[in-house]
Amino acid sequence: MRPMQPPPGTNPAVVAPPPRRDNQRRRRHDLTLPLPQRDTSLAVPLPLPPPGPSSAQSSSAHSAAQQLINFSELERSNRIGSGTGGTVYKAIHRPTGRVYALKVIYGNHDDAVRNQICREIEILRDVDNPNVVKCHDMFDHNGEIQVLLEYMDGGSLEGQHIGNEKALSDLARQILSGLAYLHRRKIVHRDIKPSNLLINARNQVKIADFGVSRILAQTMDPCNSSVGTIAYMSPERINTDLNHGQYDGYAGDIWSLGVSILEFYMGRFPFSVARGGDWASLMWAICMSHPPEAPHSASREFRHFIACCLQREPSKRLSAAQLLQHPFISGNGGGQPQQPHQNLHHLLPPPRPLSS
Ligand code: ATP
Ligand code: MG
Repeated sequence: MRPMQPPPGTNPAVVAPPPRRDNQRRRRHDLTLPLPQRDTSLAVPLPLPPPGPSSAQSSSAHSAAQQLINFSELERSNRIGSGTGGTVYKAIHRPTGRVYALKVIYGNHDDAVRNQICREIEILRDVDNPNVVKCHDMFDHNGEIQVLLEYMDGGSLEGQHIGNEKALSDLARQILSGLAYLHRRKIVHRDIKPSNLLINARNQVKIADFGVSRILAQTMDPCNSSVGTIAYMSPERINTDLNHGQYDGYAGDIWSLGVSILEFYMGRFPFSVARGGDWASLMWAICMSHPPEAPHSASREFRHFIACCLQREPSKRLSAAQLLQHPFISGNGGGQPQQPHQNLHHLLPPPRPLSS
């Protein structure tokens, strides 16, 4: 087994919040797992443009030349939230009164990392889809990287319980539209999870936070390299032996989407361990046990949809484009238990027969 590096125990605030009491009771100290090594060959970088003369500083100048937004005209107001990579503030552009989200990336990064982030943001600036949070610009403010983002006034979907299948179908359709767009452009997100799915007052759901967080995850101090949680990662990404060392980032995103959607439906993390549990418990639950399923009380369409995402074998997962055709999405929710739509059988074979 060659799983990826677990989160360091020395940084509990970041990746390993204290396990709940029920986890502590369940933990078996007589069971050990081999100490995993980080496998850098697994990194799947976005296609970057050829490195030009741009540096972090010149990228900032370039941004200014394009006159997107003048950094000095931005007024930071309240802090919206913090994650493992940075802190997000609400910011107002004084001349226009427009509101943005400003993500301030932690730490001073060396030139190589800053250059990589800048090049990636150049790509992200071209990303334009109603279901992907717009990345407007980035600034290098005395070595501190700040990313100007579209502001989503409803915040993230973390902790949401959405038992209504029609609402969930609409939400899943929007996320899939954004994901299909990114995948068409050969962009893999790699960090799909509820806190990276944002909503606004118009009920638009958008995917946030790709690119920069991922670069930081790959480039930060190895002791901090497992930025974020593995809770939404696919089994083959955590344990590289599972798929002959092959990691398909597109299929990985679909797994993460399936876990997130099922979590919304159930109102809790769908595995038998706590989402914030320790690395070994999470790894065991995700890699060694049967993928979670939607409860029997859900419609057949929804259960089938989840099963199409949560396939252990990555090649059996449907793509974002295929899932957009799934009856749970195209029929706007399941509702009544019924036979799956006939077209379903033209898609990839469902993992397990549907049982009622
Ligand atoms: P991680 O760092 O592991 O991805 P995270 O997603 O919670 O965790 P951040 O991306 O830093 O961390 O975001 C922190 C919080 O800020 C989010 O949970 C979200 O509520 C809010 N947020 C992020 N981006 C925006 C945005 N564009 N508009 C409005 N709120 C945002
Ligand atoms: Mg985030």
